[in-house]
Amino acid sequence: MKVFVLSLTGKPLMPTTPRRARIWLKAKRARVVRREPFTIQLRDLTTSYTPSITVGVDTGSKTVGLAATANQETLLQAEVQLRTDISEKLTQRRTYRRVRRSRKTRYRAPRFANRRRPLGWLPPSVSSKLAATLKAIHFAASLLPVRQVNVEIASFDLQKMRDPEITGISYQQGSLFGYQVREYLLEKWQRTCVYCGEKETALQIEHIVPKARGGSDRVDNLTLACQSCNQCKSNQTASEFGFPEIQAQALLPLRDAAHVSALKTRLVSLLLQQFGRAQVQVRYGYQTKYQRIQALDLPKSHTNDAVAITCEMGERIRPLETVYRIRCLPRGQYQRFNGLHSEHKCWASRKVRGFKLYEVVQVQGVRGYIAGRREKGAFIIKDVTTGKKVAEVTPRKLVRVARPTQGFLIVQKPILGCLRKESGASSPR
Ligand SMILES: [Zn+2]
Repeated sequence: MKVFVLSLTGKPLMPTTPRRARIWLKAKRARVVRREPFTIQLRDLTTSYTPSITVGVDTGSKTVGLAATANQETLLQAEVQLRTDISEKLTQRRTYRRVRRSRKTRYRAPRFANRRRPLGWLPPSVSSKLAATLKAIHFAASLLPVRQVNVEIASFDLQKMRDPEITGISYQQGSLFGYQVREYLLEKWQRTCVYCGEKETALQIEHIVPKARGGSDRVDNLTLACQSCNQCKSNQTASEFGFPEIQAQALLPLRDAAHVSALKTRLVSLLLQQFGRAQVQVRYGYQTKYQRIQALDLPKSHTNDAVAITCEMGERIRPLETVYRIRCLPRGQYQRFNGLHSEHKCWASRKVRGFKLYEVVQVQGVRGYIAGRREKGAFIIKDVTTGKKVAEVTPRKLVRVARPTQGFLIVQKPILGCLRKESGASSPR
């Protein structure tokens, strides 16, 4: 694992090996900035550098994969866990507010005239995810000299696939276009076996008029079927098999295809604004999948997808054995008043007995984060990965390992050497 290096002025430099970092630290040529991820800052001036690192972003609704590569080497790999509690918290706040209205409390000025949604409004849960994704990318850019950001926005390229039935892109197992056609068919046939309607199964690409009887590889002759239906149909056409409507439907091109979510559209436009037009590249899911399976030969995960997104087509890069797990944390409690009639202003202390929430601590041989504190009594320590309670101990016994940085709880997570077989509707044979 690399050690991240900052220049005297705080600009990111190319990361270095732990050995060299150790020598620099011993010779007092550098100082430690952060434990997790381990970052040092040089004490003397350095010559200028040219950024050469590509960052790949695999957006998701719960987890974002992040990877940075340069010169066929992976420098950073992380999975960012987004907050999923936003809508729940807003509902809770709304209930509190509504209950409070029926109580005898202080006067509250009416606030009904400020409810117009601004242009480009996103739901709070989505906007939280967008902000967190952007923040994570900027965090990576604060550790590494980033030249380019690659983002995946949809599973296939609609521009290239516009009327594929007419342009005649054909299917070929294992080729880049094969992956494109596959994603297109998954969207068109809604990830189901067209003959039995099965959803949760590995789907095969199926020729409506079998190849043996002169059926083409073009998209208008292809559909999706599960293995048993495919075998059962065998050498029949779809109409002979009893599905004439499939044959008719296959001829129609997909109308409102490849729905790009509001989050991804906005993410790309914000990245273009912040990093510049030349620094941002848009990628598609079929390219990622082709790259991950054919060139890199990696199991599916957010961080592996992110590595595939950074690569040029056909480039081979090995992923890291340890990835960072970055959890997005809430800012803290927002209770502002207490008392019977909300008459006291709250001054809740950030620290209790010297500790803040979400600090990583070690106690009795186990490591966890502080999930609950008591002014008088034991603290609750939870496991970083599972979120289960591991200990309830007095704060005197706690040893601090790391503090949250920039609203992120960052820990290392080793990747076990298991190569899981892919399953499910979207996996190729
Ligand atoms: Zn079937």
